[in-house]
Amino acid sequence: MGEFELIARYFKRPPRGAALGVGDDCALLLPAPATQLAISSDMLVEGRHFLGTIDPRKLGHKALAVNLSDLAACGARPLAFTLALALPRVDESWLAGFSEGLLALADAHDCELIGGDTTQGPLNICITVFGEVPLVNGLSQALLRSGAQAGDDLYVSGTLGDARLALEVFRGTLSVPAPVFELARSRMEQPTPRVALGVALRGIATSAIDISDGLLGDLGHILTQSGMGATVQADVAAALVASRAAYAMAGGVHCDEISTEQWRSWALAGGDDYELLFSAPASARSQVAQAAESSQTVVTRIGRIEQERGLRLTDAKGQWLPNGYSSFDHFA
Ligand code: ADP
Ligand code: MG
Repeated sequence: MGEFELIARYFKRPPRGAALGVGDDCALLLPAPATQLAISSDMLVEGRHFLGTIDPRKLGHKALAVNLSDLAACGARPLAFTLALALPRVDESWLAGFSEGLLALADAHDCELIGGDTTQGPLNICITVFGEVPLVNGLSQALLRSGAQAGDDLYVSGTLGDARLALEVFRGTLSVPAPVFELARSRMEQPTPRVALGVALRGIATSAIDISDGLLGDLGHILTQSGMGATVQADVAAALVASRAAYAMAGGVHCDEISTEQWRSWALAGGDDYELLFSAPASARSQVAQAAESSQTVVTRIGRIEQERGLRLTDAKGQWLPNGYSSFDHFA
């Protein structure tokens, strides 16, 4: 199968929202009046962002999910995406699975594939997503990293740390009961982009980011860009590791094999969570609750933005904890 047949078979579909889709030198999008385009790219490299053993269907899902997560963090509604793909060889069953997982998530978010590039080479997937954010009275409704204010509450969506737990199991440094691993693995391989929550938080959240490198590291970006500090309740975050409840069920109620410190570290610095971390004024608590409910997303208050620079951690009793956590850095 040649390059063009491959594109036609697995990636070309009739255009929907786009003025022109796959097949010409450019795709054409017609932005709605009074909107801004939100644009983001994410690259996935085998061995670095995913293991070679991953089911291609799940890889297709994940490749788009991590990009949609960036749109979610900006409060943008997805419109379209491009796919640049390097493949070592034409493997039709791999391509069928990959495009199925990719396009199923795309359809679920009404985000169409409008173009890309296909080449031979080591497996590498680069997606660029396009979304839209309304302008209201000329003002952008995009959620940015830079708007956190002293006194704001700090929230996180969903669960934390499970992808990291799964990674440890894959690496052979940890062994857990099978149901715990299955849960953690699905969080690692099939993250849920919090698009509806991001959109619902427009005009409510003062800042937002999606957690890819670890909660504390990504919070650091909000703090730097907002010129603020924060206190985070480490044990509230640590309670959000979904595997923890599964572990208690599978291993008996009192299972101490994994230390409190270990759960904290996965939650605070695990990475690959693709949850939203955002701030909102304390006066907006009911609006945040409403946004969570309308988007059917669990949201947990985990701390506070403060004027005093730096990041402080407290335990369940409110005692200070040392912050020795470091987030993921490709070049560190
Ligand atoms: P060009 O030579 O102009 O770069 P290509 O021959 O690479 O164009 O691609 C032909 C058409 O197929 C273009 O419309 C391009 O956007 C699209 N395309 C190429 N690869 C992909 C892909 N992996 N997914 C979707 N569309 C693709
Ligand atoms: Mg061309």
